[in-house]
Amino acid sequence: MTLTEAAALLQKNKSGLRKDGSQFTKIVATVGPACSAPDKLLELVQAGVDVFRLNFSHGSHEDHLQVIQRIQAINKEHNLHIGILADLQGPKLRVGKIKDNALPLEEGDVITITNDENAPGVKDNIYMSYDQFAEDCEVGERILMDDGKLIFEVVETNKKDTVRLKALHGGVLSSNKGVNLPDTNVKLPALTEKDQEDLDFILTQDVNWIALSFVRRAEDLKPVKDALERTGHQAKVMAKIEKPEAVRNLREIIRACNGIMVARGDLGVEMPIEKLAMTQKDIISMCMQYARPVIVATQMMDSMINNPSPTRAEVTDVANAVLDGADAVMLSGETSVGKYPKLVIQYMSKIITEAEKQYWPQISNRRPSPSPQFMLYHSDVIIFSACNVAEEIGAKGIVGHTVSGYTAFKLSSFRPKSNIFIFSDQLVKLGAFNLLWGVQCFFYNRFTTTDETIQDCVDILKESGYVKSGDTIINTGSMPMGARKPTNMLKVTDVE
Ligand code: PEP
Repeated sequence: MTLTEAAALLQKNKSGLRKDGSQFTKIVATVGPACSAPDKLLELVQAGVDVFRLNFSHGSHEDHLQVIQRIQAINKEHNLHIGILADLQGPKLRVGKIKDNALPLEEGDVITITNDENAPGVKDNIYMSYDQFAEDCEVGERILMDDGKLIFEVVETNKKDTVRLKALHGGVLSSNKGVNLPDTNVKLPALTEKDQEDLDFILTQDVNWIALSFVRRAEDLKPVKDALERTGHQAKVMAKIEKPEAVRNLREIIRACNGIMVARGDLGVEMPIEKLAMTQKDIISMCMQYARPVIVATQMMDSMINNPSPTRAEVTDVANAVLDGADAVMLSGETSVGKYPKLVIQYMSKIITEAEKQYWPQISNRRPSPSPQFMLYHSDVIIFSACNVAEEIGAKGIVGHTVSGYTAFKLSSFRPKSNIFIFSDQLVKLGAFNLLWGVQCFFYNRFTTTDETIQDCVDILKESGYVKSGDTIINTGSMPMGARKPTNMLKVTDVE
């Protein structure tokens, strides 16, 4: 397939607001048995996926390696930059085996949690994967199991290895169900032994994003950032916000990472659920200010795991995430184990297209203002101005060049009305930029004179079908081009 055909393929399948057909809000799809075959992955790309998420809570390294290679093969063959997001499990707590895989519990029933890995999984002896639990918990704290379906209260702890819990809301407890401790000061390390093993594997691969689960403070990201620095790996770091503590420490976490996921599954269990919608909006708005991409995740099209169409509430949820200003919306079980992965992406794509028609009227007052706090460098002013000039003259797109990604992240954060065309010779980073709102990525490694580079970009954009004669684009870059310094130039270019 030629470059032009690849671009046409995207146009055909992503019939969005812009004339070239692509959308501003990106789609992240979790890979699993329902979509991991090479033809299925390609189908999802054609339907509109921008980034694939590999969930390291499931699957072996061999499974993940196979998927990584398949995505890379698609990128190579179709000249795309579909990103790969490796999602580390983090300190997720679970109960152990439950006898006969079902323990019915009623309100008032008392169960005993122990450190015994071989516990039989009966009422008075259930294992939980947190050895310091008895030490760290306090009487009166709430303990939630199975996504909050079962609710308990700590009634006794021996501060060593045994905790007694009283059921406030019963249900049937089965093996390996997740446990959430919204009130407990959990002292587990941010990176578990399993995470470390997964990270060692991930660092041998050209993934574009590494996400860490259950981040509580900015320091939690340090082991991943140190490992990237040590190995020279180019991946960007994402913090999953799924603890109330992380919401309280949001600003410092945003500053310490490259991107954020609103992980509504666990967040919705750990915090009062009625606060979730407004928390999502607050997180998105702070991410835009700090130029960090933000993904809204979990249960966006949940009913489509089994049904061939979404509910009204799901359609509205996706549209609202777009209008909140999210960079991307994410699918989990819908694509990994669901019955209709391709249909889900097609629906999501159509919902995004419709919502984006209302994007600027709705969001313009939430776009970041150029306050001194966020305009630290001359390049920030040039980038902000490029967005304004593009809007004033109705430019077809803004071209940015980047090595670190700064220009891409910043351009995207201002949510301009035109395309953002990012050119870079950093192949792994291009896959990361593909997550950013409105960004289209191009590999470019011929740095000659400024005039020649501008002409090269015009030629590539024309060949890809993004611009045509008569269009106007805004070129940004750094002069002299070869010096690869921060953006210091803005030019209006008429496409001939
Ligand atoms: C979530 O909790 O919303 C989430 C995305 O995390 P995971 O799927 O890894 O539990």
